[in-house]
Amino acid sequence: MTPARTTPILELMDLHAAYGGIEVLRGVDLVVPRGSVVALLGPNGAGKTTLLRAVSGHLRPTSGHVHLAGTHVNGASAEKLARAGLCTIPEGRATFPGLTVLENLRLVTYASVAGRDEVLERAFARFPRLAERRGQLAGTLSGGEQRMLAMARALGADPALLLLDEPSMGLAPLVVDELYEVIAQLSASGVAVLVVEQFAGRALGVAEYAAVMRGGRVVAMGEPADVQDELPGLYLGRGLERGTG
Ligand code: ATP
Repeated sequence: MTPARTTPILELMDLHAAYGGIEVLRGVDLVVPRGSVVALLGPNGAGKTTLLRAVSGHLRPTSGHVHLAGTHVNGASAEKLARAGLCTIPEGRATFPGLTVLENLRLVTYASVAGRDEVLERAFARFPRLAERRGQLAGTLSGGEQRMLAMARALGADPALLLLDEPSMGLAPLVVDELYEVIAQLSASGVAVLVVEQFAGRALGVAEYAAVMRGGRVVAMGEPADVQDELPGLYLGRGLERGTG
């Protein structure tokens, strides 16, 4: 049976995970509604990356539940999760530096259900800058362009949920704005995005919801304005308003 449209794309219930004997996720509850952008914020070591790893099948939870589109998926392989609509872009660039932009994109089309040309067309329509640079080696793209190529590759699989780990890391503010513009467009086209950021500014300008993690738990979740009090001064430098940073 097809899950109701209102079923969240991702739901975590009392999720626990550990490295060796050390528990890092200590009962995480989190909901990502379909098509929405959720910013996952929190200080160093709060467990944000670990949470993404537990969701994406790279770290097996010790207990609790991961539901993807209403289906229990704890312990499923990354491949199975991808087929269920999950796509992860880890921290860093996640492209093949020695291949051209076009070659990088062609690699994902083998795994895609959509036609090969269609995937390329969609990628170039969404990222015109990549279309101009289709013959350029990925390793020679700027940091922001590489991040966009990584996103274009991920979107080739037509995901329902995209997990992004610190997409703004190391990028100039203007490039970060562009990247978040793309994230907003994705959400408008129905792709849900769970985005981890250590610095809240840009993410909160785009996110419908924000979750704050501390000590391995989500300690607050709501609309950005509602969780403001949970964010230490560190995060507020860039404000909640767009374009103030
Ligand atoms: P940051 O914002 O600094 O990236 P984070 O919120 O993403 O932090 P995690 O990377 O999830 O935090 O780390 C949570 C805790 O788990 C930290 O104390 C970290 O040292 C520990 N940890 C992370 N990866 C491993 C690992 N592979 N083995 C052992 N401990 C780990």
